[in-house]
Amino acid sequence: MIPLYSAAAVHEGLDLRAPLLRVLERQWFVLGEEVRGFEAEFAAWCGVPHALGVANGTDALELALRAVGVRPGDEVLCAANAGFYGSTAARALGAVACHADVDAASLTLDPVAVRAAITRRRPAAVIVTHLYGQLADMEAIVPICRAAGVPVVEDCAQAHGAQRGGRRAGAFGDVACFSFYPTKNLGALGDGGAVVTPRDDVAAAVRALRQYGWEAKYHVVHDGGRNSRLDELQAAVLRDKLPHLARQNAERRAIARRYNAAFEGLPLRCPAVGDDHAMHLYVVRLDRRDALRAHLQAAGVAADVHYPVADHLQAVVSADGERPALPVTEAACASVLSLPCYPGLRPDEADQVIAAVRGFFAARG
Ligand SMILES: *Cc1c(COP(=O)(O)O)cnc(C)c1O
Repeated sequence: MIPLYSAAAVHEGLDLRAPLLRVLERQWFVLGEEVRGFEAEFAAWCGVPHALGVANGTDALELALRAVGVRPGDEVLCAANAGFYGSTAARALGAVACHADVDAASLTLDPVAVRAAITRRRPAAVIVTHLYGQLADMEAIVPICRAAGVPVVEDCAQAHGAQRGGRRAGAFGDVACFSFYPTKNLGALGDGGAVVTPRDDVAAAVRALRQYGWEAKYHVVHDGGRNSRLDELQAAVLRDKLPHLARQNAERRAIARRYNAAFEGLPLRCPAVGDDHAMHLYVVRLDRRDALRAHLQAAGVAADVHYPVADHLQAVVSADGERPALPVTEAACASVLSLPCYPGLRPDEADQVIAAVRGFFAARG
């Protein structure tokens, strides 16, 4: 079986014992030298002044929303095709998620829909998800939000290293959130996350909020504090993996281009593989999505759907009343399919994926 993702393949050739041993020798496990080192290196890598390690990507979103001033009862605007993570974070602090439709080509927030939603609803923040590794249209979206005084939160959990015009994901908004869940482009050996920001006030707020609301030890100044910290073992691993990220993203794009070339002429919508794409997931769209998925499974190729249920149609929000019209989002949920695309996927394995996909259409015409 060719898996959708293989940690073993991604870690091939990397020495993961060395970072763990560094921490064991020091016997300091939370918010120490490795976290400080990783924060400095990751901030520099993103091209942004501040990075703060937190426990996971969802916490990063929640603390970032809090830090830019979102309060209970406020609305947070986000896409509805991005796995509910932004909605989870908004709901965790008592805010209400509202949604705008996505662009049919990129499947990231449509600037026209964002402008309309901001005019209509006055959200306290907008979360822009760089879905599948595709950098959203920040050049259009950020000025719209700035003009309305609405802070922009980038969800970069799938876009470590996506870049356009010399700027990396995380360097466009007021604040950006990363997850280091093991399958992400930069993955830890467990949970982890980071908040990245150019704003000193937002960095100070997140620094306090991730540790009980402390301004100094045992002095609780920021309300809504939590315990959400990155630990030393994960930070040490992330430091050692970061120098490989650009090369690994390039490898993801090369696999995606191989797929695109091989799928030409098939009744299948392939992603545009620009250099601004971190290719976290290689996602095709087709009407007979479930049939192709079953065919691939039988042929020994794993595939998955990111994501099958739009946020506004999830069971927990169905009672909320308003149902926005999100036709592009809903069509995407019904047609997207993710194929194996990760660093270390061998050419013969990619060819096996290609043969299985082509076999599906050859059999059915
Ligand atoms: C994975 C992911 C998250 C959540 O990250 P966790 O570390 O699992 O909490 C948030 N947003 C997006 C787009 C993701 O893919």
